[in-house]
Amino acid sequence: MTIERNNRHRVMICDECGEDYDTVDADDFDDMVERAKRANWLIVRDGKLWLHYCPDCRKLPGKG
Ligand SMILES: [Zn+2]
Repeated sequence: MTIERNNRHRVMICDECGEDYDTVDADDFDDMVERAKRANWLIVRDGKLWLHYCPDCRKLPGKG
């Protein structure tokens, strides 16, 4: 599960290790994505899905 939807909150979670980056109000999700990118998270599209990898896991083979 990449993004947990909990009422109006959104949580970005690493698809590899399950580490969570941040929890924000739904209205601030775009801002969280930008902050995650600056924090070296990798966000890639896989078909209909968006995958999120923390700075440690993005170093693994095949994750770019
Ligand atoms: Zn990770």
